[in-house]
Amino acid sequence: MPSSARSQASSRIREFGLISALKQRYGTTNRRLVRGIGDDAAVIASSPNRHYLFTTDLLAEGIHFNCRTAAFADIGFRAAAANLSDIAAMGGTPEYLLVSLAIPRVATSRQVEHLYDGMMAACRAHRVRLIGGDTSASKGGWFVNIVLIGSAESGSILLRNGARVGDDLYVTGTLGDSRAGLQILERPRGATQARSLKAAHRRFLVRRHLRPTARVREGRWLAEACWATSAIDLSDGLSGDLPHLCAESRVGAVIERSALPISPACRQYAETYGQDAEALALAGGEDYELLFTVPARHRIRFQRASVQRRFRMTRVGRITPAREGLRMTLPDGRQRPLPSSGYEHFRPTR
Ligand code: ADP
Ligand code: MG
Repeated sequence: MPSSARSQASSRIREFGLISALKQRYGTTNRRLVRGIGDDAAVIASSPNRHYLFTTDLLAEGIHFNCRTAAFADIGFRAAAANLSDIAAMGGTPEYLLVSLAIPRVATSRQVEHLYDGMMAACRAHRVRLIGGDTSASKGGWFVNIVLIGSAESGSILLRNGARVGDDLYVTGTLGDSRAGLQILERPRGATQARSLKAAHRRFLVRRHLRPTARVREGRWLAEACWATSAIDLSDGLSGDLPHLCAESRVGAVIERSALPISPACRQYAETYGQDAEALALAGGEDYELLFTVPARHRIRFQRASVQRRFRMTRVGRITPAREGLRMTLPDGRQRPLPSSGYEHFRPTR
């Protein structure tokens, strides 16, 4: 589920506690159900060579999006990208889409049209087809739910639980851009123009928030060429999602703070607003980049192959024994516990 700093949600329920309780109670597997609750998508065997992948995300107005800062086409695009990203994290190919909407009475048919325009624009590059859904009225705001069905070769699916001690940790792309873009959108109009942030950088960051690229090609390559031992997509930020990968794999990890890939735009944004770019990269959610592990003995071959493919993949740390927990190495060599700034929808208010 995508995170959002805009959520005001508070409840006594803790999201990850709820999910692990559900997993304990109902999370069985069998010969056909290869993977149920606990990964980016569920895996169901369809033929000896091919497995189906199922993922779903629910976006609620005021929690995941806000009609003041995003156009309906952008909301649709992001909703589809969040699901495409979960299939990418499994190394799969996205194929079919089901869309359910709860629509407030004040909504117009143009808004619905724009929502679908955005959703289908994100899907077009992957030839994903809309095959159904459901429609309801809403007494509150908008609710947009997507189910995405994909498939993958049965022998090369990327799971969260395959990381091994000594593996290198990598991320695709750059981190923190989406959070910076969201902060720009939330500032009063003109406030970002008044500072020295370049217009091109501002546009880049806003676009990275509103139109994220799901790393489907990268995920398929990592899986099919058998490079990666595990993967997860970054919807809740590196410091929010790394713990899930480590918990499922029963390992620890150390991140090198100075290795985090940061775009020139995010770097300039952080300088302009007196923020720490690395902190944005660690905590910022909704980048929809992939976090994955590759055995260290393949480092040179892997890095050469990814450059040949023109994929941006940066080594940001390594996997350690579970007892060492989650840590971060500072530029001076000292180590700190990794700040746990991941977003949780039901975090209790203090
Ligand atoms: P992601 O951020 O990759 O979409 P989530 O953190 O939303 O993943 O979910 C983690 C796992 O828990 C997934 O396998 C998801 O299918 C499962 N899950 C989340 N919410 C529920 C729920 N309400 N009931 C059953 N399973 C759930
Ligand atoms: Mg995910």
